[in-house]
Amino acid sequence: MEPVLVAVAIYSGLLGLVIGSFLNVVVYRVPRDLSIVRPGSACPQCGTPIAPHDNVPVLSWILLRGRCRSCREPISIRYPLVELGVGLLFAASTVRFGLHVWLVAVWILEAGLVALAQIDAEHLTLPRSIVWPMFAAQLAVLAGAAAQEHDGRRLLVAAIAAAAWFVPYVIINLVSPQALGFGDVRLVLSLGLGLGWFGPGVVFVGFFASNLLAIVVGVVNLARHATTRRQPLPYGTYLALGTIVALFVGGPIVNALALPGLR
Ligand SMILES: [Zn+2]
Repeated sequence: MEPVLVAVAIYSGLLGLVIGSFLNVVVYRVPRDLSIVRPGSACPQCGTPIAPHDNVPVLSWILLRGRCRSCREPISIRYPLVELGVGLLFAASTVRFGLHVWLVAVWILEAGLVALAQIDAEHLTLPRSIVWPMFAAQLAVLAGAAAQEHDGRRLLVAAIAAAAWFVPYVIINLVSPQALGFGDVRLVLSLGLGLGWFGPGVVFVGFFASNLLAIVVGVVNLARHATTRRQPLPYGTYLALGTIVALFVGGPIVNALALPGLR
């Protein structure tokens, strides 16, 4: 690997840690209709504001041994795991895709999906206030990248992929809103655009990976139904997981199966 790529990968990992920390705030506050800006983070148990030196991603949780400094109540390990997860996703994406303007669009998609997957799993909703800004930001970055690389065709393919995933889902939603909520329908615009940038084949991989995951977990759940009545994850969470899978292994799968259009 070139030294500059290593440096940017490390930088993007650190950026991911900070973004992950912000996403923890988003995941908690957005579904509860709280401001994501004010007030600053506080301990959910005792309400004591968290000082900046206790709010360093991952590190603070380790140094405080997963407990609040004032009340000593445990702080969920989910927070440092999300921070670490986004850091790894960002760094891995830099290594996987290299240095491009459109790498920012990949990060936007990943960050949005990390937040949405958790919110849907917990609250069974995909907030519009996250989905639309994510889509707008992806579109803006990809349009900029297409202009800079004089590659309007690539943007067009991505837009068509988004529409090709969106339209059948709209129809399913119209026929049976119970089976497929409009939150999921709205989300596939972002997934189609983000994966379509890598060619139609990668969108297929994302679609199949999402639904395969949902079916496998559903079947396993059904088989265990007698003993545990655990609810399967909501569909938006599977869409998010399948899309992350497709981002990283979609290209190789497309090449192996000789599906259309990966550059
Ligand atoms: Zn506390």
